[in-house]
Amino acid sequence: MNVVVIGSGPGGYVAAIKCAQLGMQVSMIEKYKTLGGTCLNVGCIPSKALLDSSEHFHQAKHQFKAHGIEISEPIANIASMIARKNDVVAQNTKGIEFLMKKNKIKVIHGHASFVSKNSVEITKEDGTVETLSFDRCIIATGSKPVLPAQFGYDGVRIISSTEALNLKEIPQRMAIVGAGVIGLELGSVFARLGTKVTVLEYMERILPGMDLECAKELQKSLQQLGIEFLLGKAVQKINSDQAKTQIQYISKGKEEIETVEAEITLIAIGRRPYTEELGCERIGIEIDEKGRIKTNSNLETSVAGIYAIGDVVQGAMLAHKAEEEGVFVAEILAGQKPHIHYALIPGVVYTWPEFAAVGLTEEQCKEQQLKVRIGKFPFKALGRSRASMDTDGMVKLISDAATDELLGVHIVGARAADMIMEAVTAMEFRAGAEDLARISHPHPTYTEAIKEAAMEAAGMMAIHK
Ligand code: FAD
Ligand code: NAD
Repeated sequence: MNVVVIGSGPGGYVAAIKCAQLGMQVSMIEKYKTLGGTCLNVGCIPSKALLDSSEHFHQAKHQFKAHGIEISEPIANIASMIARKNDVVAQNTKGIEFLMKKNKIKVIHGHASFVSKNSVEITKEDGTVETLSFDRCIIATGSKPVLPAQFGYDGVRIISSTEALNLKEIPQRMAIVGAGVIGLELGSVFARLGTKVTVLEYMERILPGMDLECAKELQKSLQQLGIEFLLGKAVQKINSDQAKTQIQYISKGKEEIETVEAEITLIAIGRRPYTEELGCERIGIEIDEKGRIKTNSNLETSVAGIYAIGDVVQGAMLAHKAEEEGVFVAEILAGQKPHIHYALIPGVVYTWPEFAAVGLTEEQCKEQQLKVRIGKFPFKALGRSRASMDTDGMVKLISDAATDELLGVHIVGARAADMIMEAVTAMEFRAGAEDLARISHPHPTYTEAIKEAAMEAAGMMAIHK
């Protein structure tokens, strides 16, 4: 079977590898020069590289002394940080090139557009056009930042995450529209480097959709870092001149326009599915009201034999969700019967402390009128946290009051991103709070907070609280 994959992000390249592993003949088309899509080039990997560098700087400046390490005043060299980030990106994108060769996947650089239900036209950088026919096609064209016209995006002073990952100077003042994942992660990078960061958010809380109590806990830590939050503010318009940007917003319940000024404004109000000049309309691939490619439960589009995965279809815009869907479609094509447990896809915000979650929030449990038990444990009560001075945050564990089955786990704390996998695994196996409470957790580790929260949820009482 001959398969064409459009897009080389975590959805596309994983689908391509799995199809090749299952014996299919695979070509992958990518319009940019490097492989890896948003995630590797301008998303997950570069943002985490800068998050790590800025956190090291912040610790050197504010925590080393308390650990008994005396150094002269550290200096943040943004050019070196960006160069290291670029190197990390290059290592990763080259890694994908290697995997393509290893799996005998033909990579074609150019913009793909459907010309029929079984062929695409690829326009290359030099203007030449190649036509490729396929038995099956997987669309993995991803997403782009939402940049409304009235927000005046210019890529210099009014920027998206892509430019924020490549700033040449550390701004003195940065305004960020949107207290979602990008706003908080990139806001943390610059706040740690000394920028005065103000985040404006439409909702009266940060991270809409995540557990409210934990989001408030994270907000406290980010405020201590120096980030200012203006919540319940609908940004209307953004202007800029040579020296500064000006944000115009309306506070909830009011009518007058207020303003905030900053050197740089980062727009982080979400991402939109990317299907431009893909030719979907030409062959009848249906798009929904949010611009996403419509699929059935097998991720097949309205045109038989053409599938779509990742950010361009419904669901969380996350790299690991795109990867799961890549494997899923490859297995469908091979005649297997795969399954994705969407309810248990974890989400992580890579601030410090980190915020990681899986399953239902307390608010969702209330909406669904579920009878639950909640166990909580603060990191400040853990020996491990005191040893490292990472005492912010807590574990919040929600279980079914009648059956004890875990319904949701929310962690704000050091290394929450890695710890959440204990909860995901437990929930995949439909464990109860008591199961987690009775598993031996190594001492001293942050994971002991999960055990203690589980004890409380299971009605056994926490030991160290
Ligand atoms: P993409 O990665 O967007 O890849 C799509 C590819 O298709 C692109 O390379 C594009 O050039 C190509 N393409 C599009 N149209 C065509 C065409 N017509 N012809 C040829 N090629 C085409 N997610 C996480 O899980 N964890 C994180 O920590 C995280 N951090 C992020 C940080 C930032 C700043 C951003 C912006 C995103 C982050 N994400 C993170 C989200 C993650 O990057 C996306 O969910 C993921 O990349 C989606 O994968 P995808 O394969 O669907 O699409
Ligand atoms: P988001 O959807 O997470 O947050 C956008 C925020 O902007 C929302 O809180 C929204 O209420 C607010 N907003 C929208 N319009 C506004 C207005 N006019 N005025 C004020 N506030 C407004 O979007 P994002 O942060 O841009 O991230 C995009 C996607 O990228 C997300 O879906 C996320 O999953 C993905 N991502 C994931 C990670 C990660 O997994 N760690 C990191 C970065 C990005």
